Amino acid sequence: MQKWVGSASVMSAAVMGLDVRPVSVEVSLIQGTPMMQIVGLAQGAVREGRERIRAAAAQMGLHVPGLRITVNLAPADLPKTGAALDLPIMLGILCAKGDLPQDALQGTLAAGELGLDGSLRSIRGALPIALFAAADPHIARLLLPAANLREASAAKGIAVGGSESLTHILAALNGEARLRGPAVLLSPSARPSGDRAPDDGGFDLSAVKGQPVAKRALEIAAAGGHNLLLSGCPGSGKTSLARCLPGLLPTLDVREAVDVTTIHSVAGLLADGAGLKRARPFRAPHHSISEAGLIGGGTRPRPGEASLAHHGVLFLDELPEFGRRTLEALRQPIEEGQVRIVRAAGSACFPAEFTLVAAMNPCPCGFLGVPGRCRCLEETVRRYRRRVSGPLLDRIDMLVDVPAVRWEQLADAAADETSAVVRARVSKARARAARRHGTINARIPPVRLEEACGIDRGGRSLLRKAVTHLGLTARGYHRALRVARTIADLEGRGRVSEDHVAEAVRFRGTC
Ligand SMILES: [Zn+2]
Repeated sequence: MQKWVGSASVMSAAVMGLDVRPVSVEVSLIQGTPMMQIVGLAQGAVREGRERIRAAAAQMGLHVPGLRITVNLAPADLPKTGAALDLPIMLGILCAKGDLPQDALQGTLAAGELGLDGSLRSIRGALPIALFAAADPHIARLLLPAANLREASAAKGIAVGGSESLTHILAALNGEARLRGPAVLLSPSARPSGDRAPDDGGFDLSAVKGQPVAKRALEIAAAGGHNLLLSGCPGSGKTSLARCLPGLLPTLDVREAVDVTTIHSVAGLLADGAGLKRARPFRAPHHSISEAGLIGGGTRPRPGEASLAHHGVLFLDELPEFGRRTLEALRQPIEEGQVRIVRAAGSACFPAEFTLVAAMNPCPCGFLGVPGRCRCLEETVRRYRRRVSGPLLDRIDMLVDVPAVRWEQLADAAADETSAVVRARVSKARARAARRHGTINARIPPVRLEEACGIDRGGRSLLRKAVTHLGLTARGYHRALRVARTIADLEGRGRVSEDHVAEAVRFRGTC
């Protein structure tokens, strides 16, 4: 005869893409053959949670022989993955067994991975879970591993507490100890520098010698959000220039910082104890990256490099070496600013508004035009350049030649402008564009372009000539107009005139 021992229900959550769905963890205990069963579309890591929970319970002396444990994860049709359900399952068992008072978990959402020794490990997606909890009036408290507390505290309107050990959590829920809060871990003045340290390693424009044209191109790209392609020999400084771009963009505002942190959190790329990411992302994937790695994918959709670069910079060095399919997959994010992934286990949409900086050598050996060094055949060079032609090149606003730096420029002691000085001009130009049409210039829809740009007669006449002379497509015409609009914004001009167009079409080369 089976004897009912107890039951309990604990609130938790599952992250699908960037979305959070509520999960109710229901536990029922019956006297009988010892076993634990987890039902409700529990996958991989959730089912393995049984072993972690058993080991942690044994470690803490909570092991009770002769109990048949059934865990139901509701709703039953939602696939659950990851180890974040370990903690709510464990708390449910302890509550059903009478080791915790029934009301200890009222209004509490719990998530956390258990270590075999009863420690609590960080989970992915703590920030989106906290934002979800804060928006639900039935949830008053969020219980998390200590390593996730600072990240989660970016969500306002919810009490966040936790610990690094299950023993401490139980003591707190029994009223014998206090949970840790984010403020206890670190005071605001003692934040780890990691939050502000940019992904780009803090490159400053003043450290790059020479290259006035490329630096000007970076300023325009930053001000208008324009994609650009840097072409030059190895050692000309293309990578250093690209790494300077995040530092030329205005600092992330709170909403953008939450977006960036959420994506990194879901991808499992936030360090333990990290808070909001404040620096613009700089992502530089190797050319061997897969399509899924670049734009996102997997059976349980995860964000790719394009989304990790959201609100920042995606740098593709040695562009012709990337797979053609991989590059073609970038068209959707470049055009729509987001990536949609559809899978049987669920679809996901990840934001992906980044500035693309691509770099390439002028020929396979890299030294085209350098006397005595380049032996590439004309046909080889053509074939090499053809690899980047087509759809992707058609979405790059500016083509920039980066010549080798002459030694007298390297030795030039004159101070170059710092990133902070350029960033101030960029911020003003972006604010002008935002006031005019609510977006950066690179994202003005073609139908609104003519009206939004306000080009004068001289500018229009020169642009027409350039279209004929350079053989620009309709897209090319629009790109040149957008870049000219940005140049006028940097000058603080209301109308786009001849000078602005003249500079813009200079970045339309013949690559
Ligand atoms: Zn060559």
